Amino acid sequence: MRRPTVEWQVAGACNYGCSYCIQSPKHRVGAPSLETVDGLLAFLASLSGRWEVKMSGGEPFAFRLFLSRVVPGLVHRTPHTVSVLTNLSAPLSELERFAALTRGRLGIVSASLHLEYTTVGAFVEKARRLREWIGPEPSLVVNAVLVPGKLEELLEVRDSVEAAGLPFFPQVMKVNGGVHDYVAEDRALLPLFLDAGGDPRRENRAPSYLGRTCWAGVDYLVLTQRGDAFSCRTAKRFGEGFLGNVLDGGVRLADASHPCPYTICPCTVPANRGMVEGVGSATATAKEAAFSVAGEVP
Ligand code: SF4
Ligand code: SF4
Repeated sequence: MRRPTVEWQVAGACNYGCSYCIQSPKHRVGAPSLETVDGLLAFLASLSGRWEVKMSGGEPFAFRLFLSRVVPGLVHRTPHTVSVLTNLSAPLSELERFAALTRGRLGIVSASLHLEYTTVGAFVEKARRLREWIGPEPSLVVNAVLVPGKLEELLEVRDSVEAAGLPFFPQVMKVNGGVHDYVAEDRALLPLFLDAGGDPRRENRAPSYLGRTCWAGVDYLVLTQRGDAFSCRTAKRFGEGFLGNVLDGGVRLADASHPCPYTICPCTVPANRGMVEGVGSATATAKEAAFSVAGEVP
């Protein structure tokens, strides 16, 4: 069963500047105007049925209109489920407000731990408080990049996160066109984190669904901070799959599924959400859900 999903890059800017960020500083910029935000919300309100709106950035909470306009707009103007990828840098007061605003409507909070900017103690305490505020239904998962040279430290981090009752999901470090080539000392520790025998390439593989029927553009789409809509990330990367702009002519979803024309499908969301013929399921595990959100934007 397909689960309609929108991935919305709410704002490009991030308040962190992690050395391992897959987004280059020159691309990690920007924030939409109020007019664009309202246009995006109007478009989301026009979608029929209940979608999941997965918000990412940059850092969504660092965008000044996030809590004042984006989240209330989604909750009050649409029937959709709200999910977010955040570095959890927002003050506790803002996280509490987010939890209150989204009560009954929250899907997944994927919290990324970045030890270049916070401590594990401070992060876990925030995550634990947020976990209490959002109640038992929504998922809250912690993910962290397996930063080279930091794996021993990350084993302790994992223990701290799990001791607080939170799921911990490691992410192999991505570099342009693939995954980081870990040195021998790190490779020896990777099996303590990863399935697939600790092979980072297998863990982070980007499969090909070339020729399979795909509903991207029909029940799944990607929205940018500028209000552009694309059928999927791969299509966007190739300058294809443009569905329109929410303010300039509007967005038109595709009428029908189509055979995938690409040899790589690096984002897990379409597959996990039942968009690709013969792949994924309607009951993605918490781990899949975490990576669905966190996989593309670190
Ligand atoms: S890794 Fe995430 S938190 Fe760090 S700079 Fe990049 S987007 Fe921001
Ligand atoms: S299978 Fe993946 S890459 Fe191919 S069209 Fe669908 S979402 Fe895009």
